[in-house]
Amino acid sequence: MALQVAGAGELQRFEAVEPHMGTLVRITLYAPDAATASHGFKAAFGRIRQLDETLSDYKPDSELSRLRAGPAVRVSADLYRVLTAAQRIAKDTNGAFDVTLGPAVRLWRAARREGRLPSEQERRAALAKCGYQSLELKKKTVRMLKAGMQLDVGGIAKGYAAGEALAVLGALHMRRALVAVSGDLAIGAPPPGKRGWRVQARQQTLELRNCAVSTSGDREQFVEVGGKRYSHIIDPKTAIGLESSQEVTVIARQGSIADALATAISVMGKEGWQPARHYHARIVTP
Ligand code: AMP
Ligand code: MG
Repeated sequence: MALQVAGAGELQRFEAVEPHMGTLVRITLYAPDAATASHGFKAAFGRIRQLDETLSDYKPDSELSRLRAGPAVRVSADLYRVLTAAQRIAKDTNGAFDVTLGPAVRLWRAARREGRLPSEQERRAALAKCGYQSLELKKKTVRMLKAGMQLDVGGIAKGYAAGEALAVLGALHMRRALVAVSGDLAIGAPPPGKRGWRVQARQQTLELRNCAVSTSGDREQFVEVGGKRYSHIIDPKTAIGLESSQEVTVIARQGSIADALATAISVMGKEGWQPARHYHARIVTP
């Protein structure tokens, strides 16, 4: 007992911030010295950089961007894992969360830039190239069935990356850590002497450990078109950004699940609480 207390007392808190995945990533960890901490930061940020190379929809040469409709292609373990989780949630939410919305997401981004809503014809054309039922995963291969399909894992990749970075730190014996990829947090063992990490969500202070927390629909992410506010999260029925800017915070065991569920519940509202139960996820209410 005395040894444990002395050991825990020797740990110091370290924090580092780097830009990755189009946002800021903050890692806080406890380590015995600066050299150990710096080794941890390098490995964890390196893992996130590697995942961005694989999963980015902005980088034209990422593994994800290079996927095309046609024969099944073998993909990396990370991409396969993210898509497998995404497809499970797509089925459980009836497509409210859908990583095949790439063409609709692109149309929405272009329309936003031009400050106008996409026409019905444009929206129909984009939605014709979407639909999770047309994405097949089998034995580490991916097959897209419709021409023009494009995947966008923006609603799940940050949570997955946060969880993976935390796992890297755990493997280096730095389990008392928190990785925040913007609003997607992966939380490890608590700081020494504490019951958990303090996290602000929906006007509450939560004390959490060994879990993931994701917030979607946050106020920073809205866009204005014709004086109206829209979200960057798309309603898969209309190919238009959601109009309500309700924040949704989900606590789950895995980062990818918390992230995808937060996006799905933004689309579905309270109806989305039901599928969340399958994943032992908790929705934070104000
Ligand atoms: P998040 O911030 O985690 O809610 O994810 C939002 C991002 O996910 C958007 O910027 C799009 O890249 C993508 N996205 C938008 N709408 C959806 C949707 N209905 N299902 C899955 N991904 C979406
Ligand atoms: Mg999300």
